[in-house]
Amino acid sequence: MLRQFMFIVFIALLASCSNEGQPKANAQEDKQSDQSITLYTHRHYDTDKAIFAQFEEETGIKVNVVKANADELIQKMESEGDQSPADLLITVDAGRLVRAKNKGLLQTINSDILTQSIPAHLRDTEGHWFGLTKRARVIVYDKDKVNTEDLSTYEALTESKWNNKILIRSSGNIYNQSLLASIIANDGKEKAKEWAAGVVENFARSPKGNDRDQVKGILAGEGEIAIINTYYLGKLINSKDSTEIKAGNAVSVFFPNQEDRGTHINISGIGVSRYAPHKENAVKFIEYLASKEVQEIFAEANYEYPVNPSAAPSDLLNSWGEFKEDKLPLSKLGELNKEAVIIFDEVKWQ
Ligand code: FE
Repeated sequence: MLRQFMFIVFIALLASCSNEGQPKANAQEDKQSDQSITLYTHRHYDTDKAIFAQFEEETGIKVNVVKANADELIQKMESEGDQSPADLLITVDAGRLVRAKNKGLLQTINSDILTQSIPAHLRDTEGHWFGLTKRARVIVYDKDKVNTEDLSTYEALTESKWNNKILIRSSGNIYNQSLLASIIANDGKEKAKEWAAGVVENFARSPKGNDRDQVKGILAGEGEIAIINTYYLGKLINSKDSTEIKAGNAVSVFFPNQEDRGTHINISGIGVSRYAPHKENAVKFIEYLASKEVQEIFAEANYEYPVNPSAAPSDLLNSWGEFKEDKLPLSKLGELNKEAVIIFDEVKWQ
């Protein structure tokens, strides 16, 4: 009798588990996985959080963010393979996006919204990646020592008048590799090598530090001009550190090559991962980030230019003036990366 009773209680417990607990949990999980995306990104701005929250509210799609530096994220996706939870990868520099594409980590996306809102040279021809923000690699110069009339092109930086005056970071950095790749694409390999050798000849010091350190070098009187990405100037001017603010205010921006191909630009961009568990939602997310309203906030977070031509740059960027940009398809930067690295090595650009 007691055994019978125990058996009934046992069955009842089992039933309650399977009828309520188990299926409910599964349904919850399914719903969550369908209505979410996982984003691998190097970005860590508060504005991003606000943008993602807004996207979640508008679409009901939850955004899971995994943060690390760009090279680590690419490596992570590689080692995870088809088990990767990543739906999307955000990284800086077209060179890195091409690298991710060549490693087979991204997939083709066809979206009329994206082709309409992002100019062709700022996205992959096969839809593997799309630019989200734009930065220019410009010359900044000491306001007190340099006349704007003395500046013209990247090529002219090899002139002897700049001897011991140029500050620029090491060649191990992808921004310099992409700049040289653009010079190879425009001037050919031989001329690009002569250019790199000529710049080394004019170094104010052996390359050290990041782009911001080059501007601080100008403030310290170590050199008169530096080559940096525009957003670093925004970071300096808006820094909490008084020396950085001083350095940012000691220089002005010059956009090189305005009479010919335009200033070298690069992007931060996004791609849908090859094994994305939520491809449809991932595309929706990119379309959201490419929209005019979101572009303005997303770009301003890092003092960058929006890629969507209908979106306006921030007041600070407008104060530097409009400029003509090099329309070289950015995929070229990735294709010519190896050649650029070899040239840097040959001319002993540290
Ligand atoms: Fe950077």
